[in-house]
Amino acid sequence: MTRDTDLETLLLGPVLPERDCGGCVACCVTLKVDTPDFAKPAGTPCPQLGPQGCSIHAVRPTICRTWFCAWRRVAQLPDEARPDRSGLLISINFERAPRNCFEGVAINIRTLPGSDAIASGLAARVLDILCTQLVAVWFSDGSKRMLMHPEDDVARLVLSGDPPPPDHAEEVAAWRERYSAFLPPL
Ligand code: SF4
Ligand code: SF4
Repeated sequence: MTRDTDLETLLLGPVLPERDCGGCVACCVTLKVDTPDFAKPAGTPCPQLGPQGCSIHAVRPTICRTWFCAWRRVAQLPDEARPDRSGLLISINFERAPRNCFEGVAINIRTLPGSDAIASGLAARVLDILCTQLVAVWFSDGSKRMLMHPEDDVARLVLSGDPPPPDHAEEVAAWRERYSAFLPPL
């Protein structure tokens, strides 16, 4: 996982004191960590993970002390959306040189193996909560990754630079301004 705590806090808010990880260890298994003092591949349990959770909790690496998933930051997400309960892991990701500008700064929702969040409707509820601001939202169901926010028409206009119709003009302009660092000049 790559990270920027200030931007995570700016976009998602601070960590909520009442949102405890409890028995969840989803991020310790799912995410890729690539920092100078600690690295692990994606989709692999961290070697420090034991039956009671992190076996080096008191001296865990800096990134583990400062990284928190969106469930721990966004009060509107329901309790049942905790990653180990829902099978939905939600994080902010940053790409310095994204192929698609909407990957530059984005909320990523990924389903974990065995998740029934799509069938239960929880994934749709989570999307409704998160697709409300000028931050791109991607959803991965394990087989494909889809841009959920902004909607297709708006995304195409932002990416192409084509003149938007009047009913989309304000929204397209807002997205282009927000993601200008990742877009070629018009
Ligand atoms: S995925 Fe979220 S709730 Fe689960 S251990 Fe990581 S930070 Fe805690
Ligand atoms: S060091 Fe501990 S907190 Fe960090 S990924 Fe490994 S098990 Fe999780």
